[in-house]
Amino acid sequence: MAMMELYTLSAGVKHSDVQWPAASSGILLRSQLVNLEYACRVGLKCNYKSRRSLAVCAAASSTACPSLKFARPENVPGEFFVDHNCIDCDACRWMSPKTFNRVGEQSAVYHQPITEEERRAALQALLSCPVSAIHTQESPADILQVQATFPLPINEESLPGVYHCGYHSKKAFGAVPYFIRRSGGNILIDSPRYTEQLARQLDKLGGVQYMFLSHRDDVADHARWHKRYHCTRILHTIELQPTTADVEIKLEGTGPWDLGPEIDLIFTPGHTEGCVSLLYKPFKALFAGDHLAAHREGGLHNLRDYNWYSVRMQIDSTRLLLPLDFVWVLPGHGRRIKFTDVDAKNTALQKLIDEEEEALQPQH
Ligand SMILES: [Zn+2]
Repeated sequence: MAMMELYTLSAGVKHSDVQWPAASSGILLRSQLVNLEYACRVGLKCNYKSRRSLAVCAAASSTACPSLKFARPENVPGEFFVDHNCIDCDACRWMSPKTFNRVGEQSAVYHQPITEEERRAALQALLSCPVSAIHTQESPADILQVQATFPLPINEESLPGVYHCGYHSKKAFGAVPYFIRRSGGNILIDSPRYTEQLARQLDKLGGVQYMFLSHRDDVADHARWHKRYHCTRILHTIELQPTTADVEIKLEGTGPWDLGPEIDLIFTPGHTEGCVSLLYKPFKALFAGDHLAAHREGGLHNLRDYNWYSVRMQIDSTRLLLPLDFVWVLPGHGRRIKFTDVDAKNTALQKLIDEEEEALQPQH
């Protein structure tokens, strides 16, 4: 009977989202069912509609079911582990640097969390992983408390009202979604994975009035967020696709555009043809989409390996950022950075421009 109840809890859970130890006996282990329940509780999405599908899959051998997951051997033993589905997006490593590092082009646990703070950060990374590659051996009893920490304030002193949403979406290639709370209308910047857990948290901050979409790659669950909040979505016309044809504001031309006196939208094409960055002027913060990102060791790069449109145009767009007044760069992928002042920002931008110009020169 207990097993039936757990089956009911697990109905609707996509098995590729769930930690699933090798199942070769044809019998669902209690630990597997607990993991399914846990997946339900943390809001993982699901394509599986029937309990029968789950039972059939669990009864299959690990080799017969390609989505079964296993811990990477590079993890140190203990509660947390990363599986082979890691896409090396780096999020867990900057969100929880005391637990995760990079080993062989994927993340791994190099130090099990000890303090409460370390555990909270590791669970925040688990909830944010776009491919659900981070797991715990046991269903974490404190997961609801950790869900309630989102969205995460970035720096309450120098960036008040700006949050990291977490819940990165696989559909946005793991892009980092941000949220600005402000009297002129709250803004969701690029799309988190849709979960009610996050929506309820955003409700407490006043909900979402605008959804700024930097470019076509990072739109993910925009339709579900729009359905929840009836927010005004913003995307450049060039970036429109069938799934975004109905956004409310379609930017045209080369801008800049504004959302009142605090927000400028800056045309930064190159990565794609219609990329736009958002400048939050009161706190000197540029939300750069995939136009810029920060190196782990400081400085900027432009995701050169992921340029889908024009490197020349991306360099020219970078040059246009030199006169702008910002010290924060909050990228769609990778780490954010705060420069000491605008001069330091411009030094980093100029270095990037010089490097990219050099790389464009014909090789002899
Ligand atoms: Zn992109």
